[in-house]
Amino acid sequence: MPADLAPAPGPAATPASIRFDRVGQIFDTETGPLEALRDVTFAIDRHEFVAVLGPSGCGKSTLLRIIAGLIAPTAGQVEVFGLPVTRPRDDIGIVFQKPTLLPWANVEDNVVFPIRHTRGRVGSADRERARKLLSMVGLEGFERRLPDELSGGMQQRVGIARALLMDPDILLMDEPFSALDALTREEMGFELLRIWEARPKTVLFITHSISEAVLLADRVLVMGARPGTIVEDDIVPLPRPRGLETTKNAVMHDFAGHLRSLLLKRAA
Ligand code: ADP
Ligand code: MG
Repeated sequence: MPADLAPAPGPAATPASIRFDRVGQIFDTETGPLEALRDVTFAIDRHEFVAVLGPSGCGKSTLLRIIAGLIAPTAGQVEVFGLPVTRPRDDIGIVFQKPTLLPWANVEDNVVFPIRHTRGRVGSADRERARKLLSMVGLEGFERRLPDELSGGMQQRVGIARALLMDPDILLMDEPFSALDALTREEMGFELLRIWEARPKTVLFITHSISEAVLLADRVLVMGARPGTIVEDDIVPLPRPRGLETTKNAVMHDFAGHLRSLLLKRAA
């Protein structure tokens, strides 16, 4: 077939990064079954930045742990790059709500730990990049400190540097900035956008902050509680690149207001 008659590679040719099809999760608890997720269906395109908002306990972390292959859903299908998720993958980086650092290893060794774990050895180029990332998250000079010697916010930033070092195709972040003060939080958000723009990756970003979701994401999924379902799936109507100017954009405030009323309605 002449090249100009060949079908153009369309969206169907590239599988979504993440696809949920009628996913449910029921936990067995001492007080009986607990339905954490029901009928959750969505797809996230490659390189899309998606924020997830929802009340505490609506199943956000459960959703993330399912994508990460840490728990298997009790109903439905989950695919990553077109393949069913059966176990954790090396091309997914995770920043947990609480930093999970090795207490006996210094900051730099914590950041390079996944490289040691997956490749068996850490090269000087890896350490060089680890130090660059640590400086980027504001931890220059802390490379030899132990996690215990750092504040909660600093430990969280070590976890972020660790996830970024692998340059994963998919980055899952569970309220990654909640331990940071407001200014650092905003700076880290913009830094994350710079990294994402320079090295595109699919990002799923769980947050409690409506303005953070709107400022960072292409799309916002809003979850409702008991059992957790997706109640809204909106494209963020703001141009990129985003920065401090964006925070003054009237569209941003209108859209944030729309999300706020949705969340309030769900909480009522
Ligand atoms: P969120 O991150 O939105 O706050 P989670 O996903 O952590 O919510 O939890 C959703 C619901 O599932 C909560 O009621 C929580 O108590 C319950 N849950 C989460 N993990 C487990 C588990 N391993 N066993 C039993 N219940 C769980
Ligand atoms: Mg959570």
